Amino acid sequence: MSDIAHSTIAFEGHFARDLPEMAVPWRAEEAPEPQLLALNEPLAVELGFEPDFLRSPEGVRLLIGNALPEEATPVAQAYSGHQFGWYSPRLGDGRALLLGEIAGPDGKLRDLHLKGSGRTPFARNGDGQAVVGPMLREYIVSEAMHALNIPTTRSLAVVATGRAVQRETLLPGAVLTRVASSHLRVGSFQYARATNDLELLRRLADHAIERHHPSAVGEANRYLGLLEAVITVQATLVAQWMLVGFVHGVMNTDNMTVSGETIDYGPCAFMEGFDPGAVYSSIDESGRYAYRNQPLIAEWNLARFAESIAPLIHDDEEQAVALAVEALNGFRQQYSAAWFSGMKAKLGLPESIDDGVASPLVDELLELVQEARADYTSFFRSLGKAARGQAEPARGTVLDLAAFDAWLERWRALTPDANAMDRVNPIYIPRNHLVEEALAAATEGDMDPAVRLLAAVGDPFKERPGLESYADPAPESFGPYRTFCGT
Ligand code: AMP
Ligand code: MG
Repeated sequence: MSDIAHSTIAFEGHFARDLPEMAVPWRAEEAPEPQLLALNEPLAVELGFEPDFLRSPEGVRLLIGNALPEEATPVAQAYSGHQFGWYSPRLGDGRALLLGEIAGPDGKLRDLHLKGSGRTPFARNGDGQAVVGPMLREYIVSEAMHALNIPTTRSLAVVATGRAVQRETLLPGAVLTRVASSHLRVGSFQYARATNDLELLRRLADHAIERHHPSAVGEANRYLGLLEAVITVQATLVAQWMLVGFVHGVMNTDNMTVSGETIDYGPCAFMEGFDPGAVYSSIDESGRYAYRNQPLIAEWNLARFAESIAPLIHDDEEQAVALAVEALNGFRQQYSAAWFSGMKAKLGLPESIDDGVASPLVDELLELVQEARADYTSFFRSLGKAARGQAEPARGTVLDLAAFDAWLERWRALTPDANAMDRVNPIYIPRNHLVEEALAAATEGDMDPAVRLLAAVGDPFKERPGLESYADPAPESFGPYRTFCGT
């Protein structure tokens, strides 16, 4: 069986071949005692892998880069990035590797990538390792995002390495096997731009256009087309984060893709009580990446992307800047349109409804939710019940009942579609206390809580008996939530 899986799935090396200046050939560290903790079977099948093979000792070694097909050319990718606003010229895959690209049965090219596979030349002071908790967190949250129909990198597997890793305490080491439509980041372009090698920058941009935004080829200025396409996918992505209450936590330019997929789940969290200023990351002291700042930061990061590719947009710097600024001006409008459209859907209202009617309804509702710090996810889910005539669950969570009743009357007069609401307002999200509980158990060797949580968040819109506790906000005893950068 292993022969079949090896011979049918070719590991291609497009990035390694097209962009050798940004790809350091490297090998994953040998794991002393690899043990498969989680395997994403539907994703494995989508990619053309035989799940039984991936469960075999040989398959597990493939998943961590210890037994690769002969043609594979694993590389550590170079990139730069603005971290919390400060530019770092050389970041790159310090503990990660691109194993190669694979074309699944659907013909779509995807990166197969490792996190926690040992030190690379980009490791700086890092140990190159990752541990079970944070890798499983990325697995759970990215799969939850996917189930919420939000573009994201996917997680194929988490494998414990059998190596103890020094953090505050000794923790079990692990490798995450990640799948993405690519790992090209805004920071990849910053890196290419900083080399002053215009030919390299052009090759990188052409590579990105071919993989993600082929329609730019048909445009008069394909690099301006690339910029516009990245602005569009990011405006839509961040609107979707905002609509589900997702706080990424570390929106550095090296953690922003040009494909429009969410990437790098470190100190991320789903908001519970509605608070636009919500920050969860322990290292985000100034609140730069707070919930409400996410669209602004995305726009800031896109400006860094525009600067990086400006020399491709026009030979004349002034003209390049004018064109880039015009494109960037489209971000706010596109973000607002995507967000507003999503809000109308959350309220069960038709897309075609008059803005003058829908806009004040949305604004007034959010004010009521914010004033009460109502649980964002359950509040919107309970509005579906209110659309069916059962207003109590939603009423029970707001403070200003008179205002809410008046709001309900205006909204119900528009005959909101409750079934449509249930298809966009999730009941199960990876709540912070549930994620922490699952990671703590997994670190002790018990995967059951993680398996149950994955089952709940993997089908987030369908209410199921027995999963009541997965829909509830954190108990008081959980306290204010802080996340730590995933190491
Ligand atoms: P992140 O915060 O995960 O986006 O990572 C930022 C940078 O730090 C990237 O260049 C990573 O490869 C690098 N990095 C993070 N943790 C480690 C580690 N334990 N060992 C080596 N490099 C690391
Ligand atoms: Mg990163």
